[in-house]
Amino acid sequence: MMNKRITKTIICLSLSMFFLILVPILMVQATQAKRLVIIDAAHGGADAGVMVTDKIQEKEITLILAQLLQKELAKSPDIQTQLTRTSDKTISNAERIKMVKAASGEVLFISLHVNAGFGNKATGYEIFFPGFKTPATDQNESKAILKDMEQNKYLNDSVRLAQMIQRNMENVFPRKGRGLRDAPMPILGDLSIPAVVLEVGFATNTDDRKKILNEKTQQAIAQALAKGIRDYF
Ligand SMILES: [Zn+2]
Repeated sequence: MMNKRITKTIICLSLSMFFLILVPILMVQATQAKRLVIIDAAHGGADAGVMVTDKIQEKEITLILAQLLQKELAKSPDIQTQLTRTSDKTISNAERIKMVKAASGEVLFISLHVNAGFGNKATGYEIFFPGFKTPATDQNESKAILKDMEQNKYLNDSVRLAQMIQRNMENVFPRKGRGLRDAPMPILGDLSIPAVVLEVGFATNTDDRKKILNEKTQQAIAQALAKGIRDYF
């Protein structure tokens, strides 16, 4: 027969076990809402993007990078991924945005591109986050908008995501970053989740082009992006 003291000890132990084991598990589950990264292989199908070489188009490179990034992120069991396309298919921006809006959980959006233009000397990667859409005609007004936007959680998260990606891209392309840019991008304009556009480099620059086409560099870009995303989470 158990005496009172033993019963009390058992109750105490059970309670301790509850707090020691169950509560941390519950807390971890509560903080681990579904994490989803939507990887946008920009362009596709009829929309080829820029010509990287005579034969290779931007849409091919973005798909390769998107699939490599998906593979890298698969190493993190807490992060799920979704590609906007897995083949050479025409997809409008509206359809891509629709995909994002249908997603639930903690969702990130990263759109992959290849840059071109500004002469053959322009080089390096660029990271864009949702920009300010109102033209800065009236200074006070634009300041007010700026303040509103600064308070916008999504914008702050987008900037933070851009910074994490930048930090890791710096390892692949040292001192090649052209900075973070808050340009209005059509794909980003309508999103209410942390989102960035990455221009990996310039097809119009010889060195950049070589890198973009190099399998090892493509792999390194995917690893840098995956690390940046993990750092963000
Ligand atoms: Zn593009």
